[in-house]
Amino acid sequence: PAILDIQGVGKRFAFGTETITALSGATLRIPKGEFVCLIGPSGCGKSTLLRMIAGFESVSEGTLLMAGRHVAGPGPDRGMVFQDYGLFPWLTVRQNIGFGPAARGRPRAEVAATAARFLEMVGLDRFAEAYPHQLSGGMKQRVAIARVLANQAEVVLMDEPFGALDAMTRENLQRELLQIWESTQLTVIFVTHAIEEAILLAGRVVVMSPGPGRIVADERIPLPRPRD
Ligand code: ADP
Ligand code: ADP
Repeated sequence: PAILDIQGVGKRFAFGTETITALSGATLRIPKGEFVCLIGPSGCGKSTLLRMIAGFESVSEGTLLMAGRHVAGPGPDRGMVFQDYGLFPWLTVRQNIGFGPAARGRPRAEVAATAARFLEMVGLDRFAEAYPHQLSGGMKQRVAIARVLANQAEVVLMDEPFGALDAMTRENLQRELLQIWESTQLTVIFVTHAIEEAILLAGRVVVMSPGPGRIVADERIPLPRPRD
């Protein structure tokens, strides 16, 4: 069964006296563990679709199910990674990573163990007590990834996560993300407008088109991958 079942999903925004259709009739079934890239030009509704899956935006039409339940708002099962990191600047790397479990009232020892595990996974043990402004962009994005994993996200939603990084850091992060994905059961939905990034990362590429936003192609890429 699909972890995400998106049937005829659309989104309209009221904009002054006008109504903007950001997305229309999007249908996608995503099995658990798939790595999907959404590509398409600016304004085709990629972020809107991602934000609806995250529960940040309501659904105007159609149905959007996560693990068989209607998505009605944000939840720890869906973690979002933003291009501009979105870390809490007043918290250390360790506290950023442990934020979700701590906010949900998990016992102190469990929060500490979870933070330690994901600090190690992204190779940031040495920077545990640093604050975000002391980190490079690549390191900040590693913290953001560790934070959603520590919060037990099953679906990781990534909105052009590496778009602000230099080419070498981007390649490192792409490789590290694939390693994490291969060693877990994560489902990844990764928005990019770079076709070569989509081909490198994804086992499935969904192409969107603007005016109004819709899905125009949905193809599996049969590259050899350890998990396939
Ligand atoms: P993409 O991520 O592919 O660039 P978006 O999902 O950001 O596209 O936007 C799709 C369309 O929806 C655009 O025309 C955009 O202007 C419009 N849109 C997105 N968010 C809002 C909003 N909050 N209010 C009004 N229009 C919006
Ligand atoms: P990459 O993703 O290729 O490792 P980064 O730009 O994320 O590139 O960082 C490169 C290396 O530089 C890091 O592994 C880290 O050891 C070091 N580094 C980056 N920023 C800082 C910083 N603010 N303080 C100390 N070391 C840093």
